[in-house]
Amino acid sequence: MAQRLLDRSAAQSSLNVWEMAQSQLDDVATIIGLNQSVHAFLREPKRILTVSIPVRMDDGHFHIFEGYRVQHNMARGPGKGGIRFHPDVTLDEVKALAMWMTWKCALMNIPFGGAKGGVICDTKALSAHELENLTRRYTSEISIVIGPEKDIPAPDVYTTPQIMAWIMDTFSMQKGYSIPGVVTGKPISIGGSLGRDRATARGCLYVLNEAMRELGLEIAGARVAIQGFGNAGLHSAELMAADGYSIVAVSDSHGGVCNPRGLDVKGAIAHKAETGSVVGFRGGQRIDNRELIEYPCDVLVPAALEKVITAENAHRIQAKIIAEAANGPTLPEADDILHERGIMVLPDILANGGGVTVSYFEWVQDLQENFWEEDEINQRLRSKMVRAFKETLAQARRHNVNMRRGAYCVAIDRVAEATIARGLYP
Ligand code: NAD
Repeated sequence: MAQRLLDRSAAQSSLNVWEMAQSQLDDVATIIGLNQSVHAFLREPKRILTVSIPVRMDDGHFHIFEGYRVQHNMARGPGKGGIRFHPDVTLDEVKALAMWMTWKCALMNIPFGGAKGGVICDTKALSAHELENLTRRYTSEISIVIGPEKDIPAPDVYTTPQIMAWIMDTFSMQKGYSIPGVVTGKPISIGGSLGRDRATARGCLYVLNEAMRELGLEIAGARVAIQGFGNAGLHSAELMAADGYSIVAVSDSHGGVCNPRGLDVKGAIAHKAETGSVVGFRGGQRIDNRELIEYPCDVLVPAALEKVITAENAHRIQAKIIAEAANGPTLPEADDILHERGIMVLPDILANGGGVTVSYFEWVQDLQENFWEEDEINQRLRSKMVRAFKETLAQARRHNVNMRRGAYCVAIDRVAEATIARGLYP
């Protein structure tokens, strides 16, 4: 078995993130006996738009940014997926993220397909004015493919509710009337949903609690290490601490901080708000992002970027459960090692499905012009998360595979069913 894992590892460590997404599909296609034509169809995105985005910078010169919007599949409804602003964005990354959105929307059983957007930029090096110009011009360039019935963007890494507000305003200005349903994750004042800001973290907490119960683990005092302290990571720390978990390590792009007796999460959040990082927070010791992955804990929550759990570090991970708040944090070769070691991985399309689920609630509220109370939203979210967890576990058991493959079995089956029902045009 060890040799087989090493062979697979050598072949897979050179995969880029798009090849990784395709290989996950291929893998599950075999398990569920997916129709070959449907498999070939699902392996490629439906539509890719590359745009060049000229922006007048504060010093008067024009800088040309590159951006993308990829629509992977729309068999079950309009495209849905966030927009990432990051210097390392690539078209392959956006394609992978779009494919994962297709599976995530299907697993959560919401009537959306999968899409994703990205712009290669360093938001930390832009002034507020330049960031607004960039967002508005990018929106204008992709406006030919987005819209409430076509494709609905949302926040992702380094994109905020304010950026969503600029997207909504730009799109609305072009059409001549307000169209809140074009984007989710907006401020409440312009049609955002209560609970959307914490939805990814809340959903992650709901499935983690189910997994803890399933494995017979005690929630009170269970130690959690979280990589990434933005929307997904910070709110996970906050909500998990409130539920009785002990947050023993957190980090951001600058590094991290740990305390085996538990961090004061409110203090770490205040320190981050004041200084821009958790590094230097006095309630713990300095730790780097590599050490955080292997830190002694019961639950590891990767909540930053892709490919941080590899064949190299999977052997040293001490957690009993990994809850993937981030998209794509675990390489396929690492998945096998973790499964062999009996570590339960709650895959990204399940663990962070709360974000898109409340985005769906936001879109429904916008279209109906009728807004729900936060309790109702959280209750509906819990019911969708618990159902998706149970369906994933049932498929994992049925096929004797890990939870990622279980989740993919549920999702791919749903997308295939819709694809076959619609047939091929013309
Ligand atoms: P964010 O911009 O709010 O936060 C990102 C965090 O990651 C920041 O704390 C940043 O400092 C940290 N970070 C960046 N580079 C890092 C590095 N190299 N090492 C460690 N930390 C690093 O973004 P977010 O919305 O919280 O997204 C984080 C992850 O969660 C992404 O994978 C995203 O796709 C996924 N996700 C987010 C949502 C959502 O609703 N925001 C929904 C589903 C999935």
